[in-house]
Amino acid sequence: MIPVTKPFLPAEREFKAYVKSIWERQWLTNNGPLVNTLELKLKEYLKLDHMLYVSNGTVALQLAIKALELSGEIITTPFSFVATTSSIVWQSCKPVFVDIDAGSFNIDPSKIEAAITSQTSAILATHVYGTPCDIDAIQEIADRYGLKVIYDAAHCFGTRYKNKSIFEYGDISTTSFHSTKLFHTIEGGAVFTRQPDLLKKMALMRNFGYSGVDTFSEQGINAKNCEFHAAMGLCNLPHIDEILKKRKILSTHYRLRLNTLDVQFQQLENADDYNYAYFPILFKSEELMKDSKAKLEQSQIYCRRYFYPSLSALPYVKNVEMPVCDSIASRIMCLPLYHTLTLADIDLICRLLLRIQNFDENEVPKSAHFGTLITDQIESEINTGAIKINASL
Ligand SMILES: *Cc1c(COP(=O)(O)O)cnc(C)c1O
Repeated sequence: MIPVTKPFLPAEREFKAYVKSIWERQWLTNNGPLVNTLELKLKEYLKLDHMLYVSNGTVALQLAIKALELSGEIITTPFSFVATTSSIVWQSCKPVFVDIDAGSFNIDPSKIEAAITSQTSAILATHVYGTPCDIDAIQEIADRYGLKVIYDAAHCFGTRYKNKSIFEYGDISTTSFHSTKLFHTIEGGAVFTRQPDLLKKMALMRNFGYSGVDTFSEQGINAKNCEFHAAMGLCNLPHIDEILKKRKILSTHYRLRLNTLDVQFQQLENADDYNYAYFPILFKSEELMKDSKAKLEQSQIYCRRYFYPSLSALPYVKNVEMPVCDSIASRIMCLPLYHTLTLADIDLICRLLLRIQNFDENEVPKSAHFGTLITDQIESEINTGAIKINASL
């Protein structure tokens, strides 16, 4: 069986060593030493100063909206995970959808201005599948209209933009460390901001608004995370470069094998370093996508319609037509991608996909170009077989 994703798991003994230390200290949660260490190490790894580890990526979004005191309308993307929209509604704001770009699948900045009204307070955009939005264009519009910008960067661990972590952009960026994400702490998330006052506010909000033993300075909530989750993060972080490298190789292999398949891939040209968080393919029609998905399932290979349906069709928002998003959401599917997936697994998946579209699966292209992102070296390593199937990278 090949699922669409599997969580990365460190060696059991690595986790057990942390659990032993938790037993010795008897400190389980409330800003414990492992939570503090994880925050420090993440800041070091990501080369940024201001982040807070929180209980999950959804609460991170809610904290961001609350801390920026947003009200009225928030311009957002219809092509994301449900939490992007539900957080806006949860904070009593109104999501105003703007259609996406057909190549990047991210919010289309050229359509934002037309959606701005006197009620608009912010833009909340998702870097879909880990690929950066058109950050400059969005910031330029936000500056011109005095709007705040939040990025849902839940897919983005490891993505860099203009030589910095992508978490550095927007007034606040949020991320998720859920088990299905590329870097995870079982459950978890984070908020990032370069503005010290906002960081301080969210730090207070994370812990019920406590500013002293018996004093409260903010309306708060419980957005803390615990020592056990931090322990998983501390176990996983040393493996992150290997995880990123492996995903790049697996994704390149998919691209090479599927070069002749009549599908569209996400355009990636904006990232300095892309994290290969997902491997989406866009079919020519919904029927072809469904057919391919069903055929793969017969071989116990499970893909996911991610994201489907369009968030503009949720029962608790004003339903609007989003022609580009509606069309893409109906035709897109994510292929299996996880650390222990092998090149042989990918060969099998691709053979089946090509067979469905009646392509000759033996006609493997000699080379394919993954934008400008794949180094010639990796490409040639794959082509010459230097990268071994099952190799532990
Ligand atoms: C996973 C995800 C979230 C939610 O994160 P949780 O940690 O599961 O709460 C939010 N937005 C996007 C785009 C996601 O993929």
